[in-house]
Amino acid sequence: MRLIFLGTPGAGKGTVATLLKERLRVAHLSSGDLLRDSVKNGDSTGGEIGRYMKSGALVPDKLITGLMLSHLDQFGVSGDFVLDGFPRTVEQAQDLDRDLAGKKNAPIDLAIDFQVSPETVVKRLIGRRVCEKCRLNYHVERIPPRKPGICDRCGSELKARVDDQPETVRKRLAVYEDQTAPLLDFYRRSGKLRLVSGDQNIEDQYQELIHVLERDRLLNV
Ligand code: AMP
Repeated sequence: MRLIFLGTPGAGKGTVATLLKERLRVAHLSSGDLLRDSVKNGDSTGGEIGRYMKSGALVPDKLITGLMLSHLDQFGVSGDFVLDGFPRTVEQAQDLDRDLAGKKNAPIDLAIDFQVSPETVVKRLIGRRVCEKCRLNYHVERIPPRKPGICDRCGSELKARVDDQPETVRKRLAVYEDQTAPLLDFYRRSGKLRLVSGDQNIEDQYQELIHVLERDRLLNV
């Protein structure tokens, strides 16, 4: 199955994608993680990318699309994958479609929109903590680590993301409405859009997604 996860920041895309990877071995490719790696590794475009991310703006299409498509190649066209955070503009979606059509016509199966209220988003992002080493996401109340401030999986320190500050969160939500929400129509028109509620606990959110995948015969019932 080839899935795209849509939804505002804080809708649970990354956490649900991690569960799909752990339980069903579906590859998880997060555009935010790839961009954070570029910044951390000091790539030639890392400084520019970091400034966009810190401000809550989108990184220009030309920088992210090449990066994502080259990583996508590593999964091969028959592999299962979830794209988390990409595409985020209609231009990115069109480039993705063109790229997949060029590779033995292996299109995206579904785009999942995780729908969540603005109040939930703010609560989730303010309480989010991330392991910088293995990238596991936590939440101080919703998904607490066993030992406060320490990653269960690798023992590294957990930190808040620089772009999870209240002012930047507001900007990211406005950017979503302006530049990413038009994608919903793009996928609705091709009959590939499915909705999942993000306003529920993470296990229920995962199970609702599984039902959607079963209904669309992407998983065996
Ligand atoms: P995320 O980890 O998905 O919340 O993304 C964090 C930040 O990375 C976003 O606020 C953007 O600055 C940047 N970013 C991630 N994915 C994309 C994308 N597909 N297009 C442009 N910028 C992106």
